[in-house]
Amino acid sequence: MANGLPRLKITDVKTILTAPNGIRLVIVKVETSEAGLYGLGCATFTQRPMAVATSVDEYLKPFLMGKDPDRIEDIYQSAFVSSYWRNGPVLNNALSGIDMALWDIKGKRANMPVYDLLGGKCREAAPLYAHAGGRDPEEVADSVRKYMEEGYRHVRAQVSVPGYSVYGAGGGKVTGKIWKPLSPEQKGAFEPTPYVNAVIRLFDHLRSELGNEVELLHDVHERIPPIQAIGLAKELEKYRLFFLEDVFAPEDIEYLRILRPQTSTPIAISELFNNMCEYVPMIKDRLFDFIRCHLSQIGGISPAKKLASFCEFFGIRTAWHGPGDVSPVGHAANLALDLSCYNFGVQERHVFRQETQDVFPGCPELRDGYLWSNDKPGLGIDIDEELAAKFPFPEHPFNGAWPPVRKLDGTVIRP
Ligand code: MG
Repeated sequence: MANGLPRLKITDVKTILTAPNGIRLVIVKVETSEAGLYGLGCATFTQRPMAVATSVDEYLKPFLMGKDPDRIEDIYQSAFVSSYWRNGPVLNNALSGIDMALWDIKGKRANMPVYDLLGGKCREAAPLYAHAGGRDPEEVADSVRKYMEEGYRHVRAQVSVPGYSVYGAGGGKVTGKIWKPLSPEQKGAFEPTPYVNAVIRLFDHLRSELGNEVELLHDVHERIPPIQAIGLAKELEKYRLFFLEDVFAPEDIEYLRILRPQTSTPIAISELFNNMCEYVPMIKDRLFDFIRCHLSQIGGISPAKKLASFCEFFGIRTAWHGPGDVSPVGHAANLALDLSCYNFGVQERHVFRQETQDVFPGCPELRDGYLWSNDKPGLGIDIDEELAAKFPFPEHPFNGAWPPVRKLDGTVIRP
């Protein structure tokens, strides 16, 4: 007995693979010796889902069977070192599936939402940022305005570059001189200079059209050379962004030390980070402003709550990664932290389509520019396994892999 509650055992661990919106999601279900008591976790690494599923089903399941699900920290630490080699995205996602499920179980056992286990709400709901895109600055401004009218105070703005393939903006209007890629099978190409010029023109237009009240964000998506990224961050300073995201690839993060003294443009980074060896040195030296980790990628709620607390001491706010390849279970985990961490900054918005809401009853609710918890015990979310099975992983030419993005000469660049 623990606090009047009977001791439990883990009786089953399994992965559920489903793609209700065509996005490959990996969910972990941990069952216990109490009838009907189970937990769900997000282990979605959408580009390598089967590697994660194997890690859970073949390696973590036998390690966890019979263990006490109340001992979240002990299970996390022992499972973490159980592979000896560790800290990578596949094993971290597998760990996250287990870890979130254990927090879900503990919340259900305590009859409390996970945010209460983490210290309780310090805000009513999580402000979201929406994604605005368009073919030119005028279209992007219209899109931002539409979100502002819906109640959003934070909007990410991405613009197309005519003739090029850019991240997050939709199709480009092709006018003027078009440089053709050398590789005939290449659908689009990316070149840094036209992109940088277009982004500066975009923010000049947005601020002159929309004023300074709306919080504007932009994601560089690690695509440009570091020195050009530094130039861009400096140019954008006068447009007072809420944050500029992923100016550097993880491989180039030492450039943060060169960027930081040169501009006050707020920097968001780390959706691609996997482990503390990458983020701790940058946090302790206050080299960025928003931590963007993908919760399942760093191992789940247990490491994320420690990371959020560590960031708080250094004035860094949270902006957990929240696109469609975070499952609704992962979004519910994001929200538990958003509501309970003092140093929350903003949450990325994803609109769950009806099929996804049907597969995952209890999805957090989007309303008036905020994400709201349903305040149910645990993570407050369930899965309809029969319905989930009706959405198998779709056929994909590269089995889910991100297709290469190339320069005009055919050189592959970061996605
Ligand atoms: Mg991003």
